[in-house]
Amino acid sequence: MRGIFDSHCHYDSAGFDADRYEILDELMGSGSSVTGLMHAATDEASIRFGIETAARYEGFYTSIGFHPECCDTLPKDPKRVLTEALGTSDKIAAIGEVGLDYHFEGYDRDLQIKLLRMQIELAAEYDLPLIFHCRDATADFLALMQEYKPKGVVHCFSGSAETARELLSLGLYLGFGGVLTFKNAKKVKNSFMAVPEDRFMFETDCPYLAPEPYRGQRCDSRMIANIAEYAGELRNTDPQRLLDISAENIKRLFKLK
Ligand SMILES: [Zn+2]
Repeated sequence: MRGIFDSHCHYDSAGFDADRYEILDELMGSGSSVTGLMHAATDEASIRFGIETAARYEGFYTSIGFHPECCDTLPKDPKRVLTEALGTSDKIAAIGEVGLDYHFEGYDRDLQIKLLRMQIELAAEYDLPLIFHCRDATADFLALMQEYKPKGVVHCFSGSAETARELLSLGLYLGFGGVLTFKNAKKVKNSFMAVPEDRFMFETDCPYLAPEPYRGQRCDSRMIANIAEYAGELRNTDPQRLLDISAENIKRLFKLK
C-alpha cells in the first residue's frame, strides 16, 4: 500500500528513544509507504519536538497543545507558550492533543476543562482545527463540543455509534486506529461503520495500540496498512481506496497541500 498518512503519532515517546531518527528517516524517505505524519503534541517538550522535526522532514506536520494528562506539568502560562510557538513554524496545522481524561484517579476535572476551553478558544482565534482526546469523560466532552462547535478530529474514537453520530452532526471528524482490529472491539467497529467516508481518518497513536497481528508490540505508522486492510474487510471495499480517502480527509481538515 502507498500514500499512508498517519493522523496521530508520538515519535517523541520514550518507546522510540533507541532508534527515533532511523525510523523517521525510513518513513519519510523516498520509496516509503508512508507519505505524511501528524505529530500529536502533549506538553512543552513535545511541542518543541514537533516543530523541530517538522523542519527536518517535508511530510511531517505538527500540532501544538497540552494533553489533559499533562496538567501536572503545565508551564506557568500555557497560552503564552502556544501563541509564541505559533509564530515559529508554518507547519503547525492543529491545536492538539487536547481534551478530557478522567481515567486515572486524582485527575483535576476543573483544571482539565479550563485548559481545554483555553485551547479551543485559541484554535478559533487562529482558525486552526483541533485534535481531541476523550477518555471516560463523554458527557462533559460532548457538552463542550455542543457549546463551541469546533473544527477538528476526535482521535482514537472509542465511543458508541450514537456518540459518533452526535459528533458527526457537529461537523467533527473521527480517528480510527489499531483498536479497530481488536477482536473484542465490537463497539468501535459499529461506530466506524456509522461514519460516512468523508469524515474518518486513520491513525496509529504509535508507539501505542499496534493493530493485529502486531497487538502488544511497538507500533509505527506503516502498520496503518493493516488497519486499512481490516477496515476494507469491514466496509467491503478496497483498502487502498480507504487509505486514499483518509489522506484526503486529513489534508482537508488540516488544510495541507
Ligand atoms: Zn495520542
